[in-house]
Amino acid sequence: MDDLKFGTRDKRGDWSPSAKAQVAPIWAWPPRPGKIPGWLVDYVWPWNAFHLYAVNAAAIFVMYGSIELFFYVKRVQGNRFKYNAKFPSEQPSDVFWFKSQNIDNFLKTLIFGVTTWTAVEVVMLWCFANGYVPWLVWSDHPVYLAALVFIGPAIHEAHFFAIHRLIHTPLLYKWIHSIHHNSINPSPWSSLSMHPVEALAYHAVALWHLVIPSNPIIGLFQLHIAGFGAVNGHIGFEKLELTDETVLTSHAFIHYLHHKYFEVNYGGDGLIPLDKWFGTWHDGSKEGEARMQGRFKTKRERLNARLAAKNNQ
Ligand SMILES: [Zn+2]
Ligand SMILES: [Zn+2]
Repeated sequence: MDDLKFGTRDKRGDWSPSAKAQVAPIWAWPPRPGKIPGWLVDYVWPWNAFHLYAVNAAAIFVMYGSIELFFYVKRVQGNRFKYNAKFPSEQPSDVFWFKSQNIDNFLKTLIFGVTTWTAVEVVMLWCFANGYVPWLVWSDHPVYLAALVFIGPAIHEAHFFAIHRLIHTPLLYKWIHSIHHNSINPSPWSSLSMHPVEALAYHAVALWHLVIPSNPIIGLFQLHIAGFGAVNGHIGFEKLELTDETVLTSHAFIHYLHHKYFEVNYGGDGLIPLDKWFGTWHDGSKEGEARMQGRFKTKRERLNARLAAKNNQ
């Protein structure tokens, strides 16, 4: 591109644009109200929205990426404590972009996962900043707000169970949730690898803080439970060996079983035993397996009975 069409270059070779630098048009004198709508769009897009996105994306890249690097690329502990003996990179499949679960999950995390997270964050902070919802301050409500932080993970569990159960209904499963379930053998990059509708519904958990009286910092904490916490169920290892003696327990088994069997363990980590209450709990034991098979059998029988009734009509 010819930069001299847009500016001039002096004898030293330094370039200056032809247009003068300007302050934001809200300060213009005489006022130029016609410029303000365009400026408002510029104000949000692309730079400020991108900065927020970049913070979230960088944080996810470092957190998920470092677990992937050590335990899936370098394989520092081989498959010790790994539920599925294989690694996703050993199983190329047509269901994934570029036939690679890793590339597919990485791209979907950044394109859909982090983008919807950032969008929910923008809307939530915007509502607080404009006074559309109550903003409780810590000095006036320390006990209530501390309690709200404490039950943040429970709000997450209830919200996740509800939307997750919903997207397991046949039509929504086919259109939306099957993308996440392509990863039968999940790794950290699978955590936020979702259809955009699912990713939006998932991160929308933070919007509960616009409904219940709350504070934006707790709303952000709620989003972080969703965004960063998603990795807990997708680590693929029961324990991460940090040193020879120290291990970090992952709590990943419950959700690993969900990826393996699909129709069990719709909740996160059992903080609220919703799966037990709704009869979809699988704890990995023989009894859990038998319960699941029993449920599948009843379902099959009901379906067959319905088909037989239809054929007899
Ligand atoms: Zn999952
Ligand atoms: Zn699912």
